[in-house]
Amino acid sequence: MSSPEAAAADTRRVLVVGASVAGVRTVQALRGAGFTGTISVLGAETHFPYDKPPISKGMLAAEGTGEPVPLLADEDVAQLGVELRLGASAVRLDPAQKVVTTDDGSNHAYDVLVIATGASARRLPGTEHLAGVHTLRNADDAARLRSELAPGRQAVVIGAGFIGAEFAAAARAWDVDVTVVEAQQNPLAHLLGDRVGAELGRLHEMHGVHLLTGVTTERLVGEDRVTAVELSDGRVLPADLVVVGIGAEPATAWLEGSGLPIGNGIDCEASLEVTGFPGVYAAGDVARPMHSLYGEPVRIEHWTNANDHAAIVASSILCSPVPRPALPYVWSDQYGQRIQIIGLPSRGELVFTRGSVESGELVAAYAGSDGVLVGALVLGNPRMLMKCRKAVMGSVHHADFERDVFAPS
Ligand SMILES: Cc1cc2nc3c(=O)[nH]c(=O)nc-3n(C[C@H](O)[C@H](O)[C@H](O)COP(=O)(O)OP(=O)(O)OC[C@H]3O[C@@H](n4cnc5c(N)ncnc54)[C@H](O)[C@@H]3O)c2cc1C
Repeated sequence: MSSPEAAAADTRRVLVVGASVAGVRTVQALRGAGFTGTISVLGAETHFPYDKPPISKGMLAAEGTGEPVPLLADEDVAQLGVELRLGASAVRLDPAQKVVTTDDGSNHAYDVLVIATGASARRLPGTEHLAGVHTLRNADDAARLRSELAPGRQAVVIGAGFIGAEFAAAARAWDVDVTVVEAQQNPLAHLLGDRVGAELGRLHEMHGVHLLTGVTTERLVGEDRVTAVELSDGRVLPADLVVVGIGAEPATAWLEGSGLPIGNGIDCEASLEVTGFPGVYAAGDVARPMHSLYGEPVRIEHWTNANDHAAIVASSILCSPVPRPALPYVWSDQYGQRIQIIGLPSRGELVFTRGSVESGELVAAYAGSDGVLVGALVLGNPRMLMKCRKAVMGSVHHADFERDVFAPS
């Protein structure tokens, strides 16, 4: 079934669970391809579908309104002919009966299921009772955090990953006193290595952040509200608020007992059909598909991946040719600078860097043992990112890339 006529004659009921970028873009892709069957979307949050990246950027900016950025216009919902149920959390899947149950006890039958439930922020166990301890994954988190930002307050950020770093940058713009605590010797060292991690660490320090690395959190201090963070080396950091940025986990708890293959995300084929479950698809942060560029399953928590998955899922559902997966790509905005990463640097070693965070431009390239580029980080130079993308995609040797791009003309 691959022609527009066939899509138009398709009367299957599609149920999408998760109303964020992967879910919403899947609906748009299906309708864009002419699919006329019923589409329903279940979204746990009560907000109209909105985009997640602005949560740690514009939504925390003092000059902004603090409102989420919608993924759709109101009128798009009517135009798409989709039933959008917000504040409806899926709590159970029965794949044999093809039914999803939501937290109000109602059952939702489907012919085709798309699971796009994303990921949930990891929390520090035993801190649930403490006010002032935050994670940053959704619009409500951002609103709560925003209300805590004021000049002179002391924030401790646990984890110097993308979310912790973006929060630190946003909080410095409010003149909050920020300390970032990172277990590794340098931020993002597990992805980018120590040398580049140290550069990113300097970016924090240039903006007045106290960066403490190679140290972990022993416990949070406070009775009802957090007052301090005690570190593994005995230091105690006073804290008005704490942001826990220690990663996210695929939101699959509701699928317990369904029999779906779940480990680090939902195992699926390159087509995003869940392995062994015809008619069930996974997309976005929750999916761990076979990645045809890498020949092994890869789960990716980046916006463009979720966006690209929508086109793949829609094509798979409609039995159209599935688009080739793109190289992994992520951006992060920190202190007015854009950091961009293409490919998977962690699959290689750092082979060269040019520039520095102080100069406002940095490129770091990574290659496998055969010298072929596998990834790159670029700061402040979007054109360089394009060149790196082309080189990684084209399996260029790092020495050729360096010569062609940097040789004096
Ligand atoms: C604060 C923040 C900043 C980010 N910044 C960047 C960035 O700068 N660059 C970048 O590349 N990526 C960024 N990302 C990552 C990017 O936003 C995600 O990769 C993308 O949102 C994943 O989309 P998704 O639709 O798969 O999942 P999500 O966006 O996580 O959405 C999943 C949705 O499913 C809902 N849901 C979960 N469980 C259920 C259930 N049981 N029933 C019904 N609904 C459910 C959730 O409420 C959620 O709205 C950021 C993420 C966050 C959180």
